[in-house]
Amino acid sequence: MPLYEYYCRRCEGRFELLRPMARMDDPAACPNGHEGGERVLSTFAAFAQGEGETSEALAGTGGCAGCAGGNCACGSVN
Ligand SMILES: [Zn+2]
Repeated sequence: MPLYEYYCRRCEGRFELLRPMARMDDPAACPNGHEGGERVLSTFAAFAQGEGETSEALAGTGGCAGCAGGNCACGSVN
């Protein structure tokens, strides 16, 4: 199931949800229970298939932003 990123106006922050593709544009409730989160485009999140972690993990501990593509020259992937 793809991971999508949403923005909560009340929290003024982003959160992520795993959802069926057919529902990706539906309003999403944030972790604090606020309804009406709006989907934001995040190509970075699209790489995080099957991860149960939150945005901290997606931000990448180790490696640079290019590592998400798997072919980064910084060499931290392996
Ligand atoms: Zn919220």
